[in-house]
Amino acid sequence: MTVKTDEKEILRQKGFAEKVKNIIGEGKKYLLITLGCQQNESDSEKLHGMLSEMGYTETELIDEADLILYNTCAVRENAEKKLFGRIGALKPYKEKNPDLIIGVCGCMTQQKGMDERFRRYYKYVDMVFGTYSLYALPEILYKVIEDRAQIRDIRDIDGEVTEGIPIKRQSNVKAYLSVMYGCNNFCSYCVVPYVRGRERSREYKDVLDEAKSIASSGIKEIMLLGQNVNSYNGGLSFAELVAKVSEIDGIERIRFMSSHPKDISSELIDVMAERKNVCNQLHLPVQSGSNRILKIMNRRYTVEKYMGIIDEVKRKIPDVTLTTDIIVGFPGETNEDFYKTMELLKAVRYDSIFSFIYSKRKGTPAAVMEDCLTEEEKHINFDKMLKLQNDISLEKNKAMIGSVQSVLVEGESKTDKLRQCGRSEGGKLVHFASDKDLTGEIVKVKITDVNTWTLSGDMI
Ligand code: SAH
Ligand code: SF4
Repeated sequence: MTVKTDEKEILRQKGFAEKVKNIIGEGKKYLLITLGCQQNESDSEKLHGMLSEMGYTETELIDEADLILYNTCAVRENAEKKLFGRIGALKPYKEKNPDLIIGVCGCMTQQKGMDERFRRYYKYVDMVFGTYSLYALPEILYKVIEDRAQIRDIRDIDGEVTEGIPIKRQSNVKAYLSVMYGCNNFCSYCVVPYVRGRERSREYKDVLDEAKSIASSGIKEIMLLGQNVNSYNGGLSFAELVAKVSEIDGIERIRFMSSHPKDISSELIDVMAERKNVCNQLHLPVQSGSNRILKIMNRRYTVEKYMGIIDEVKRKIPDVTLTTDIIVGFPGETNEDFYKTMELLKAVRYDSIFSFIYSKRKGTPAAVMEDCLTEEEKHINFDKMLKLQNDISLEKNKAMIGSVQSVLVEGESKTDKLRQCGRSEGGKLVHFASDKDLTGEIVKVKITDVNTWTLSGDMI
């Protein structure tokens, strides 16, 4: 059952937001930097919402900012290292302007020892708060302003869902909609279950209300989000939820991520196949093509089971766009295991992949496992995999030449003002010539030219 944060608590936060607004007055600016995945992007839309409610306006310039907030990621070690580098670089700004407020929030702060690290070594960071305290930003900020002391609010993970936080969406073309939070899977390499807690789903009525409000604001595409989105259980199955969202007037495209292969149902695949506005696109992270490695990763499926799902998807949705996540160099992975992953890539023929070199995360079971390959060998394998995948991506894109794609336009191309760009139903970037701004419209484009990552063509 979904446990919601008490409404009184939400009202209390609104009270703090009002107080902050009165204290700071007009003209204060914030800079919010979001690192990591779509879940973080979605959380940041709430941070934007709360900061706007408190009277702050957004800036992209550090020099202009009265408040700088980092929403952090902990999935790979690199992200953490970079973040501390960036926070270090803010110290001179704080020395120059003692009224500057610096904040760090999100996944990284939930990791063991972070509270102490900020208390001891980063005293000039004014607020540090975790994934569970996100909604309490108004109270935290109020205390920072009143007490002039570092406020750290990193709570134990307790399984609540918080409704009613203001959201300021960052796009008026497509919207993120979080349907569930946390993860119960404990893949042996992954830090997510430790920093985002156990799975909890929003009640389906709350999800549908948000979807309706997205539709009524004119946004045509919704991305349903969850760490393990197909284990959603907020009163409907995930397949039923997707079907209900697809019935809302004005929603022309629905995507979802991430799906775990062990939880994907035939019903969901059927909904994708049958509903016109559920995009023919599936992101299905496989991580490895070796059963031995999948077992040590605690993924709870085999290559055979995974290929069975892929076959079903391809049979029911022949033009499906497929993507995945792969980890190269997991502890114990040999070249033989690696080549099994290469074979899987050849068998599935994904449109594109997100590949990562394994990164050791403290506190996860894999962190104490022995490596077979050297870092150099892992990098060589990584490059081989990219080469193979780039060839496949290009071949798949070439096969689209001559086809007509419906493209949801996102705006002007970054490199050419006379071109517009958008995404095909499969999620591929498409460029086409137009001197008119067609942002937010769905247009038909005949594909004439492709490369590994993008398609281009003529509007018809
Ligand atoms: N819940 C999602 C994604 C979680 S993180 C899922 O299961 O698909 C996104 C991706 O980061 C994972 O799919 C995995 O490929 C990668 N990842 C997670 N932990 C990692 C680690 N320690 N090292 C390298 N890549 C990792
Ligand atoms: Fe991490 Fe696995 Fe959960 Fe994905 S399913 S968030 S990889 S533990």
